[in-house]
Amino acid sequence: MRALITGGAGFIGSHLAEALLDAGHEVEVVDDLSTGSMENIEHLKNRRGFQYVIDSVTNEDLLAEQTDRCDVVFHLAAAVGVKLIVERPVHTIETNVHGTEVVLTQANKNSQKKKLVIVASTSEVYGKSTEIPFREDADLRLGATWKHRWAYACSKALDEFLALAYWKEKKLPVIVVRLFNTVGPRQTGQYGMVVPNFVKQALAGQPITVFGDGSQSRSFTYVGDVVDALMRLVDEPKAVGEVFNVGNGQEISILGLAEKIKEMTGSQSEIVKVPYDQAYGAGFEDMPRRVPDITKLQKFTGYEPKVQLTEILTRVIAHFQKG
Ligand code: UDP
Repeated sequence: MRALITGGAGFIGSHLAEALLDAGHEVEVVDDLSTGSMENIEHLKNRRGFQYVIDSVTNEDLLAEQTDRCDVVFHLAAAVGVKLIVERPVHTIETNVHGTEVVLTQANKNSQKKKLVIVASTSEVYGKSTEIPFREDADLRLGATWKHRWAYACSKALDEFLALAYWKEKKLPVIVVRLFNTVGPRQTGQYGMVVPNFVKQALAGQPITVFGDGSQSRSFTYVGDVVDALMRLVDEPKAVGEVFNVGNGQEISILGLAEKIKEMTGSQSEIVKVPYDQAYGAGFEDMPRRVPDITKLQKFTGYEPKVQLTEILTRVIAHFQKG
């Protein structure tokens, strides 16, 4: 199989590229390096069957050529990271909506050879819902439109609508995946992600910054498990036209996470609580809990998350210690 990965120089995309190459597939990447980096794919550059182009997913001519050459498209290119989203709402909406539009149009253009598209969405679409764990068929609960965080959820929800519309109306095979907080080596804390931030702070002996009171919770999934889920879904014809949560049900509060990372690194850092307004600007709203129901994914693919939080943190800490 020849796969196109948009956002393939990003954290998840680069792990997926590596796994596909390991499985004997060919991989082509397009990435504009807005949040991805060459460093992520440096070790893949000389692998047989690997090719990359540094450009935007909104370059229609390029995407036309790339989709022609590939059998399947993993569409991961997006504006991500709460910090980035809050600071650059226009870029977020335009990248996420227009990028997906281009990918779906190109994948659909040859009626004899429509390409399977895996559209990466996010657990963020569940918004402030309190129906834990989140199931794919649940209602979505987003906040007011002047709270820019929700623009991300909304842009991704529109991507889902568009992908499912292409399936319904044009029979373009699509699979939508809602990724829950994915972590592992090579994730950068630059765009706000909590695990790399806490680990870097703990290792540097700097204050570990818990936003809000730390009672909000998340369930973290190892990037290798996410990659495994994506590869299983591509092989499952019944998954076409469906939406799947991809995650790990193990939940931890953010304060609990800070304490765990402090303990595991043997750090002397103090844990400090930073009000949300100070962290993200006025009017910020967080999600109190976020836990996936992964029954559907398990039923369709036999997926089982293999790497649990302590082991995930051990690997992330080792990654940052290495340098
Ligand atoms: N968070 C934190 N300190 C940080 C970065 C994030 O306390 O330095 C919190 C954030 O407010 C949220 C959780 O950790 O409640 C997860 O944040 P992240 O940005 O990683 O992902 P999210 O789940 O919000 O998309």
